[in-house]
Amino acid sequence: MKRSLEELVRPNIWKLKPYSSARDEFHGTASVYLDANENPFSTSYNRYPDPMQWHLKERISALKGVDKECIFLGNGSDEAIDLVLRIFCEPGIDRMVTISPSYGMYEVAADINNVACVKVPLNTDFSLSAEKLLGEIRRFGDNRTKVVYLCSPNNPSGNLLERKEILTVLNFFDGIVVVDEAYIDFAAAPSFLQELDNHRNLVVLQTLSKAWGGAGLRLGMGFASKEIIALMNRVKYPYNVNQLTQEQALNLLNRKDIMQEQLLAILKGRKWLAENLGQFPFVKHIYPSDANFLLVRMDNADAVYAYLVDKGIIVRSRTKVMLCDDCLRITVGTPEENRLLIQNLQGWKH
Ligand SMILES: *Cc1c(COP(=O)(O)O)cnc(C)c1O
Repeated sequence: MKRSLEELVRPNIWKLKPYSSARDEFHGTASVYLDANENPFSTSYNRYPDPMQWHLKERISALKGVDKECIFLGNGSDEAIDLVLRIFCEPGIDRMVTISPSYGMYEVAADINNVACVKVPLNTDFSLSAEKLLGEIRRFGDNRTKVVYLCSPNNPSGNLLERKEILTVLNFFDGIVVVDEAYIDFAAAPSFLQELDNHRNLVVLQTLSKAWGGAGLRLGMGFASKEIIALMNRVKYPYNVNQLTQEQALNLLNRKDIMQEQLLAILKGRKWLAENLGQFPFVKHIYPSDANFLLVRMDNADAVYAYLVDKGIIVRSRTKVMLCDDCLRITVGTPEENRLLIQNLQGWKH
């Protein structure tokens, strides 16, 4: 039994009459704009930006092979993560389900929205069991689970979730399935974008923050059916992506050659780091990574962390995270940064 989009969306959102901005009511070009109470003298950003970011979406559409009506752009992926919850989950009533360990923002967004967040543990090798996740949802015996959040490649474990398992969730869960692909550019696997036509309940998230080198711009991308994207556009702030970000993002996206060159260097760095970290006797396990970081289990990870801080090198301690005891998450740096890390670890007296 499949639920319709109307059955999944909060009734107040389904009925929402969105704010209509000056730039919504007139689009096209004119010679004189006296409709938005802007200062008419140029500062280069005295005008409101395009609320729908069409130039940027056209570029992204060409890059990703996704219709521009099926693209949402926001202030980082974090905006899309929050919007999906606000559109589908009634506070205090509905729930979302995610995996553990994974990206902490899913739970924070749920907590802020007063939406219950159920975390289903991954297997100890960080693989996903769709059967286990679907079983958890079935056990509630109600229809209050509206959204499932998956992350592939997963943060902090670095692995891709198995395609077959994600497809099982998409086929058997009759709510919204978000697949967060923040790290997909580093992975040796196709994106779930190609599944959008087959699965009306799929939302894919990507970002300029990782491979594209645009973390400071704050540009996140959501891809879904045009019905879901239309809902996201109705609920977002009218001018959620500012002019400077729209312009600079276009500049980044126009230099895919630079991105690809950096991507190759990062992949090479990942391999080099894994080989070199593997030589230390205190390193117990390096998890296979399809992302731009390595999750590394070692003796006394907290002490290694503090030692590195003392050397001016900051990695991420994940020692308190489920299935990650004694693990540090290490982002791949430049060749010089990677060399410094290894060189300093050679001086670690354990
Ligand atoms: C880094 C990261 C993001 C990116 O978030 P932005 O808000 O786009 O910077 C999204 N999801 C995961 C899992 C991440 O690790």
